[in-house]
Amino acid sequence: MNFKQYLTLAISTFVATAATAQTAERIPTRGFAYHAEDGHFHDHEFTRHPVGDNDVQIRIMYAGICHSDLHTADDIKALGGEPCVLGHEMAGEVVAVGKNVTKFKVGDYAGVGCMVNSCGHCAFCDIDKEQFCENATTFTYNCPDTYHNGELSQGGYSDNIVVSERFAVSIPKSADMKRVAPLLCAGVTTWSPIKLSNVKAGDNTAVVGYGGLGHMAVQYLKDLGADVTVFDITDDKREDALRMGAKRYVNVNNADEMTGLANTFDFIISTVPVDYQPIEYIRMLKYGKGEMAIVGLPTNTSVKTVDLILSGAAQRKVYGSLIGGIKETQEMLDYSVANGIYPEVEIIPADAAAIDEAYKNVLDGKVKFRYVIDMSTMKK
Ligand code: NDP
Repeated sequence: MNFKQYLTLAISTFVATAATAQTAERIPTRGFAYHAEDGHFHDHEFTRHPVGDNDVQIRIMYAGICHSDLHTADDIKALGGEPCVLGHEMAGEVVAVGKNVTKFKVGDYAGVGCMVNSCGHCAFCDIDKEQFCENATTFTYNCPDTYHNGELSQGGYSDNIVVSERFAVSIPKSADMKRVAPLLCAGVTTWSPIKLSNVKAGDNTAVVGYGGLGHMAVQYLKDLGADVTVFDITDDKREDALRMGAKRYVNVNNADEMTGLANTFDFIISTVPVDYQPIEYIRMLKYGKGEMAIVGLPTNTSVKTVDLILSGAAQRKVYGSLIGGIKETQEMLDYSVANGIYPEVEIIPADAAAIDEAYKNVLDGKVKFRYVIDMSTMKK
């Protein structure tokens, strides 16, 4: 071995060691936590668990704001929980890997969605549905992490995250990083039931609630060749829906537009985040074959059994769907990037006041589709 070869080996060994050397140290992290006492975000410094042998540390570049984050903020406020960093749509760069990691190397792009761990060996983990792990899924924030002494998980409005490599999704280097983060939740949550219901070209489909999730559903359904009708509560996004390829837009507050739709749809996905009447849409499913996937999570919405019986819903399929497993998240991401299917995003700075304002705007219907925080703008 000549000197140059020796030097190259020595440097690469040093870099590899540096990348795994943090295994014993907790990781200092800066971000923005929601506080129950005043209902606002504040700068927050904390530490994450060390990079274990099977873990990766990701420098977060972009973090999406999902309506589920708003629901969780409401829960924290109502129940008086401790300050929590929210955010479960992250895209960034791998900066350290544990010694057993095979899927990533330092410098790769990776994403994290709604989960950061699960047991890996129960009936649900075995079929790649880690979100239903029988022994405990660790959801990305505000969740006791069974696999790390029960510490409360902290989410993506922060400068880094440490996760088991099983829960990090590979992002191709060609991806548009500004827009990729929302795929990790909004993307897979809509992709998964569309695949489960086997939607195909020519099907008559509908998307109820045309926000972050809804506009991803429209794009996936269009891509499959389905006819798409969009339902939302204002006229504000009528033109956007038609531009994205929807055949029809229905303002649900306009009674005339809601008529004549009974028994017409093969597939409906509902992303509505506030209380509404799902039975109205169940009646719109084709008798004997229509399927409706409910993904929106309003607090008090329910369907009366008597309404199900009287509407003939037994001859239609109605089901709830929770995000998607890691395998299908990777499939969705690869497909979306390869086919240029991305969310439409509004980038905001990494600043507590800007996140507060974004939350208000989501509630007031003032953002069209998705806010994404540019974490590189966080003040030093
Ligand atoms: P957004 O706020 O981005 O989008 C919701 C859309 O629904 C908005 O366009 C809103 O209009 C519209 N809307 C409100 N009320 C009605 C109504 N009565 N009928 C039709 N449309 C309506 O939310 P997200 O897309 O981020 O999330 C949607 C829901 O999905 C949330 O409840 C979230 O928690 C849930 N979710 C569920 C997941 C799962 O795994 N099941 C995963 C991720 C999210 P406007 O903007 O004018 O208010």
